[in-house]
Amino acid sequence: MNSIAAAGTDPGKKRENNEDAYLMRDEIGLYAVADGVGGSEGGEIASRIAVETISDAIPSMLREAEGILASGCLSDRDPLSEKLGSAVILANRKVRRAQEKSSALSDMATTMTVLLMQDEYAYVAHVGDSRAYLLRSGEFKQLTNDHSFVAEHVRSGLMTAEQARSSPYRHIIMRALGIDEDVRPDVFQHKLQKNDRFLLCTDGLTEMVDDATICAILVSSAPRDAVQQLLAEANNAGGVDNITAVVVWVTEV
Ligand code: MG
Repeated sequence: MNSIAAAGTDPGKKRENNEDAYLMRDEIGLYAVADGVGGSEGGEIASRIAVETISDAIPSMLREAEGILASGCLSDRDPLSEKLGSAVILANRKVRRAQEKSSALSDMATTMTVLLMQDEYAYVAHVGDSRAYLLRSGEFKQLTNDHSFVAEHVRSGLMTAEQARSSPYRHIIMRALGIDEDVRPDVFQHKLQKNDRFLLCTDGLTEMVDDATICAILVSSAPRDAVQQLLAEANNAGGVDNITAVVVWVTEV
């Protein structure tokens, strides 16, 4: 599998701090975005702990998963999916431990969306309302379910997507790292195809720019340009929040 990737983040036009963080490690096919919240410096610290934990944990987890595969002792679950989920659970624990050390950080939390590309598969692990999208054969699809109050109401038929967009409750997150001692990440895998284009992004992009515009940019621009255009579109639309985007193109499977 070969891919090219680019990432960028921008504080936007209204916020002084940038509480988003991203991870781009091409050499092990690991990418992530995190959107932190919390008083003081909490948001920035939470999102940084999240991406650093993933970055530190995944290399040894990849070696362990290789060992499991080589031993032939396969469980029901794919070892890589399991390891990736464990890495997100570990990140939650690290955010919780950091909360305990400082009362100023006690309310910090962060979203986390991770993409791991290994051989012919992409693995996605996700908590919160940051998103992973896939553009494949002209179809642009959101891979992750937002763990937000309004998205859960839309999924259960209690609210329309239109109502969700303007709801005053749209920023309420139901699952994130740091909220609880336990966290349940969504983890899934996709078989890769040549020319797949993945996007990881925080809500500072998706609240400002509609899917059709995002899709058009991903169709027409290589990763580095696409990231810059996405950040610019969100800022042109008002840039009310921090904006982060990671774009990964699969050039060969
Ligand atoms: Mg945000």
